[in-house]
Amino acid sequence: MAYTYDPENIFAKILTGDIPNKTVLETEHTLAFRDIYPQAPVHVLVIPKGPYVCYDHFAQDASDAEILDFTRTVGEVCKMEGLEADGFRLIANAGVNGVQEVPHLHVHILSGRPLGRMLD
Ligand code: 5GP
Repeated sequence: MAYTYDPENIFAKILTGDIPNKTVLETEHTLAFRDIYPQAPVHVLVIPKGPYVCYDHFAQDASDAEILDFTRTVGEVCKMEGLEADGFRLIANAGVNGVQEVPHLHVHILSGRPLGRMLD
């Protein structure tokens, strides 16, 4: 499937610096920052710097270096925020069924409280 990326989306503007963010970690290919409406005591969004709409777009079209950097950044943020002990949840919403609000791939890292069961 071919994805069309909208360069006017909010996270694209965060990447260009047009919209401020609370950065947790920045690497060559990846940015991690705090969600503006946190759903848990720890709520960090991790995004690739490249123009990828959602997870399958990224998995299909990103370079190995981008994918490795992104994956390691998620892990590094979990370590920096001290999430190993009590655990965390990763979420990557996509499209209409996934109720994705911002059309730039982002992984939510949620922790700091019991998050309940997601799937019954
Ligand atoms: P989605 O529903 O697309 O998976 O999640 C989008 C997330 O982006 C939401 O949790 C929302 O709170 C967050 N968000 C929306 N606009 C901004 C913004 O301008 N700055 C930050 N830091 N987060 C945002």
